[in-house]
Amino acid sequence: MKVLLLGSGGREHALAWKLARSPKLSALLCGPGNPGMVRLGTQVALKPDAPGAVAALAKREKVDLVVVGPEAPLVAGVADALAAEGIACFGPVAAAARLEGSKAFAKEIMAEAGVPTADFQVFEDVAAAEAYAVARGKIVVKADGLAAGKGVIVAPDVASARAAVRAVAAMGPASQRMVLEELLEGEEVSVIALCDGERYVLLPPAQDHKRVGEGDTGPNTGGMGAYCPAPFLSAEALEQVGKDVIAPMLAVMRRRGAPFRGALYAGLMLTRSGPKVLEFNARFGDPETQVLMLQLGEDLLPLLNACARGQLEPRPLTLEPGASVGIVLAAEGYPEAPRRGQEIQGLEAVPAGATVFVAGAEAKGSAIVTSGGRVLTVCARGANLVEARARAYEAVAGLRFEGMHFRRDIGARGVRTAP
Ligand code: AMP
Repeated sequence: MKVLLLGSGGREHALAWKLARSPKLSALLCGPGNPGMVRLGTQVALKPDAPGAVAALAKREKVDLVVVGPEAPLVAGVADALAAEGIACFGPVAAAARLEGSKAFAKEIMAEAGVPTADFQVFEDVAAAEAYAVARGKIVVKADGLAAGKGVIVAPDVASARAAVRAVAAMGPASQRMVLEELLEGEEVSVIALCDGERYVLLPPAQDHKRVGEGDTGPNTGGMGAYCPAPFLSAEALEQVGKDVIAPMLAVMRRRGAPFRGALYAGLMLTRSGPKVLEFNARFGDPETQVLMLQLGEDLLPLLNACARGQLEPRPLTLEPGASVGIVLAAEGYPEAPRRGQEIQGLEAVPAGATVFVAGAEAKGSAIVTSGGRVLTVCARGANLVEARARAYEAVAGLRFEGMHFRRDIGARGVRTAP
């Protein structure tokens, strides 16, 4: 099969790495890809969120399957444009990607599907939102639209609640509408289902680390590291999440004429009264995908292809034994104002047993330099979480760029909880 993979981040590098192992793959085009992917596929200059250009390229190149990494192309309607050309696409049409594109829409579908989530209210007026936030005391303020994982502020008291509403209101078009919701407490877990519109298979639960600082301090980021499987959800509890969360969402989307084909990502809070959904994403998580691809013990390509064509066979996936950990190396100033252009050293000497996925980096002459906030995800698998962490951090020690920062506690909660 000839596959076109859209995107250029660490998640896409991990998908390319896994797809390249498939005996069914004849050619991989990466649009546009990144310097880490050059040996895995052919880079093609392409703006992934331009539906017409993507469909034209896929047609011209006689691509069998398009795999969409990031959310922006989905929300822009890339899957719709491909469907019009009869080209299979892993990734939902725009009407289904709204589950991620609008938090208010996701809440509406969750209500219809009976999926447990935080109590909430939607506001378009800043003063009304502020009054509500102050009255509630502790609250979570979310921009309605896409904000690259940074449109959410958790405000544990009145003073920060007011400031949070003002900060989110100042975020621009994504925050013309705001969702204010109940602050939930518990362990956070990401569950990703590969869906064909009707049926699904579940990847193992993963845990992301959203805050920039150790001990979950500082502002939210796109994610500073992840590991899987997260020990907080047993196999039975994971299956139950499939039944209580994924299946009803798929049923409602089908009923609404927008069947969801792609990766449905449920961000869950495991509260005392059971799992509640914090958010849905319409695509693979980053950096969860990097560790999930290490942990997946079977060929990814037939799975994605079956989802895209509505032919998925529901079954438990084959996994590698043990656990996988991924540590994000971020640029100085991330998440507020990442500094770019720093040369990355050590990429040629990554120890065996570790895998480095490239994200915010570009080639400059013979060097690779930083070009974004999250620069690399350093991943390793081990017989257990302790071993996987040790291998990943050993690999981190060999990598360097000016201003590089990372969290030293990725996976630590999982180690404390693991049986
Ligand atoms: P989201 O993009 O909606 O997942 O929010 C980003 C992060 O904010 C989540 O991963 C949580 O850490 C936190 N968060 C979001 N919603 C809530 C909530 N209702 N209660 C507590 N924390 C939340």
